[in-house]
Parts: sequence; C-alpha cells; structure tokens
Amino acid sequence: MPEESKASENNSRKVYIRTYGCQMNEYDSETMAGLLGNNGYHLTDNPAEAGIILLNTCYVREKVKHRIYSRLGELKKLKEEKPELILGLSGCLVQKEPEEVLRRAPYLDFILGTSNFYHLPEVLEEISGNHNRENQPEGKHARVVRVEENRAIPEGMPKLRKRRFSAFVSVMRGCDNFCSYCNVPYVRGREVSRPCKDILREVEELALKGYKEITLLGQNVNSYGKGEKEKTDFADLLVLVNQVEGLRRIKFTTSHPKDLSDKLIEKMAELDKVCEHLHLPVQSGSNNILSRMKRGYTREHYQNLVHKLRRAIPGIALSTDIIVGFPGEEEKDFQDTLELVETVGFDGAFTFCYSPLKETEAAWLKERIPEKISGQRLRRLIELQQKILLRKNESLVGKEVEIMVEEISKKSPDKLQGRTRTNKMVVFKGRKELIGNIISVKIAASGCWALRGEVNSC
Ligand code: SAM
Ligand code: SF4
Repeated sequence: MPEESKASENNSRKVYIRTYGCQMNEYDSETMAGLLGNNGYHLTDNPAEAGIILLNTCYVREKVKHRIYSRLGELKKLKEEKPELILGLSGCLVQKEPEEVLRRAPYLDFILGTSNFYHLPEVLEEISGNHNRENQPEGKHARVVRVEENRAIPEGMPKLRKRRFSAFVSVMRGCDNFCSYCNVPYVRGREVSRPCKDILREVEELALKGYKEITLLGQNVNSYGKGEKEKTDFADLLVLVNQVEGLRRIKFTTSHPKDLSDKLIEKMAELDKVCEHLHLPVQSGSNNILSRMKRGYTREHYQNLVHKLRRAIPGIALSTDIIVGFPGEEEKDFQDTLELVETVGFDGAFTFCYSPLKETEAAWLKERIPEKISGQRLRRLIELQQKILLRKNESLVGKEVEIMVEEISKKSPDKLQGRTRTNKMVVFKGRKELIGNIISVKIAASGCWALRGEVNSC
C-alpha cells in the first residue's frame, strides 16, 4: 500500500472529541472514547489530523448553543477541504432540536441523542460503508440519525478516563424536577437511577486501578433511588461506596435543596471518605423568584439547611449556582440574593444571566429583564462573591491542609496543583512524582482563583 494511503487509512480511525458542558457530558464522552478504543479507533487532540470529529454538545443556555453552531461553521470549511472527514454531533443540543441541527449543518454525517451515544462505533461503521459504497445518488448525503429516547442504557461499557486518579461515576440520568427555566428534563429525559450493584462494581474497579477519588454524578443525586424497586437511597449508597477499599475521597454533585435529607447530612458527617464540600445550587435568594422558578423550597429552608450542614460538618465548604435577571426579578429580589450570598458566605458560585429556552415554562413569562440590567446585576454579584471568597481564603493562610495532587499547574507549568477536601485549588512547587498522592501542604498565600501552598519534603 502506498505510504499516503496508509497515512489516510490510519487517520480515518483517529477521532477528535470536543466536549461541551457539564461533568455528565464528560462522563458520556469518556464512555464513547472507551467504546471507540475497543473498536480499533484512537483519540487525537488535534482536529486537523482526525478522520472523525465529534462534538458532544450541551444546551443549558443559548450562548452555548451559539458557540456550538459557530464551531460547526468552522468545521464545515475543514470538511470541504477533506470530504472524507466524518463529522458528527451528540448530546443535549441534538436531543433538543435534531431537525434544526440538520437544517443548519446539512453536511453532518451523523447525530446521536443523549441516550444513543453508545451506538457510536456501529454508526461509524455504517457511515464508512456508505462512504465506500459506489453509486451514491449525486448530491445526496447519507447520514445516520439516532435520537429516539431510551431509558435503558446498557451497563458495563468501557471507559477511557481523562484523569488517572480521580474519576466520575454517574449514579443516575435525567431529571424529574422541571424547574421552569431548565432544559435538562427535555434533553436528558426523566430520572432513572442506576442499580446500586453496578455503581459499586464501577467504583471497585476504579479503586483497584489506583483511583483515589470519585465524584458521584447526577442532576439531583439527593433523589437517587426514588421510584425504583431497590430501596437504597443516596445516603445508603454513600455508606456502601465509603466501604470500598483503596478509595480515599468521595465527592458528589449536584444536590437539590428540596431533597437534602437529615439522614444524608448525618452520613456526610459520619463517613470518613466523604469530603467536606457540598455544591447546593440556590438559584435565587428571593422567595418570589424561587417560586416562579418552581424550585420547591424557600430561602428560609435553604438557610436552615446551611445551618444544619455547618453544625454537623464544621468547616464544610458550600458552593452554589445563581441565576440573575429571571423574569419578574425586581431590584428588591436581587437584593435578597445579595443578602443571602453575604450571610451564607459561599466558597464558590457559578453565576449566570437568565437565558430563555424554547419550550421551558419560564420562556412564556412576560416580565423579561433587559439584558443591560441582568448584566449589571451579574457584575455586582460576582464582585460581592469575590470579596467573600478572598476573605475566606485569607483565613486559610498558615494552615496545614490535605490535598490530592492532580497535575502540573495549568497556569504555572513549573508547579503542581491539587485540591483540598473542601475543593479549593492549591498550587505549589513539588516533584512530578507527587501527582496522584494525597499530601499535606501549608497555605502560604491566598487568592480568589487558587491558594499557594508549600510542601516540606520535596
Ligand atoms: N441539576 C442542577 C440543579 O438543580 O441545580 C443544575 C443543572 S444545570 C445543568 C446547571 C446550572 O445552569 C443551573 O443550576 C442553573 O443555575 C443554570 N441554568 C440552567 N438553565 C438556565 C437558564 N435557562 N438560564 C440561565 N442559567 C441556567
Ligand atoms: Fe434542571 Fe432543576 Fe433538574 Fe437541576 S433540578 S437539572 S435545574 S430541572
């Protein structure tokens, strides 16, 4: 075989995957990568040398959708230069608007919905067959479309994990909450919990491979097990995962304030491997807005949870998600949010301007907030949160903390970075061999984004 055709043969099995959005999407991408690896494909970080490009998409806000369509526009040019390139889209955007995706990007070779991603290897074989087949009708583009909903996703699929010591493990898929602004129940379907034995098997395999930390994933992990035959709730699941030998740290996300039980708080306090951090999205500090958002709790309920958590787990770090500019949010509602943020003293906050999404209930609400006002509120909120964070991080200077060393620092390549049990990033000078170890460091300086640590024995 001539050298050039060997090279193109090799490239035809090189896959570039770009993941947008949340950890659940990353987890699905790791599964697709694992399936591809088992079927003779290889991953590449360089889209220019790939024979297959897949964008695993998100659709949590309009901005993300625009970014994806604009990336698709760039890839169209690449496909015009390399007609043999296979281009596909998977994930939430595809599930939400498959026809629109195909209308705007008719050059796509395949699209896969959120419960069809595991068909990727067979879809690629089918497309290669189509490409190789002669007599393709002139101008006809044969593409594969798999977007039907499927509650039963197979267990035991291989995974190619991005990280070597810390892994995601999904405990459930979908969501039943239908918060009035949110797309997730429409794009990820209704809530289904994975059987406890399958979750445990996955965690045990990871621990045997040397993974020290796992993050249990779900849109609302607190409702794990609801409606299933098996009577294991999330607190019971934590007890079982805590028994897995070799594992040192357990994290989980996301918790919904309406379903956070006393039993779960008690277990978090009791179980040695469960880290002292909780991501508990509040979304707003105004009862009026929380009710319009259909969140199912009040600010008083949320504050009571914070109180219980801090009493049971001293030093626990709390982080949150907040939306500003939700329809009907008046200045006094926003003040309630600022006040809640100040009184709780969050260790982190993901803050967003409300983005109206077609078909969600809130998109019908009339009292839209002008973008300019939402933008100003967002800046005021971020400013306040940064002040709080600086204050909190400064109080750690001089203290010894446990970190898991994750990798070479992204911002300072001569240093390493790791995370405390409270999810704070610590950057420090140390030997590369420390990566993957759990060590103690002294905090020498603080900042908003990260803390600077010093390690004695390196
Ligand atoms: N399940 C999680 C929960 O209940 O908090 C959240 C999942 S959602 C993928 C992540 C965050 O995106 C939400 O907490 C919310 O703050 C934000 N978000 C979701 N829909 C949004 C919208 N339409 N506009 C702005 N932010 C939104
Ligand atoms: Fe969306 Fe609400 Fe479900 Fe979270 S709980 S995924 S915000 S519907």
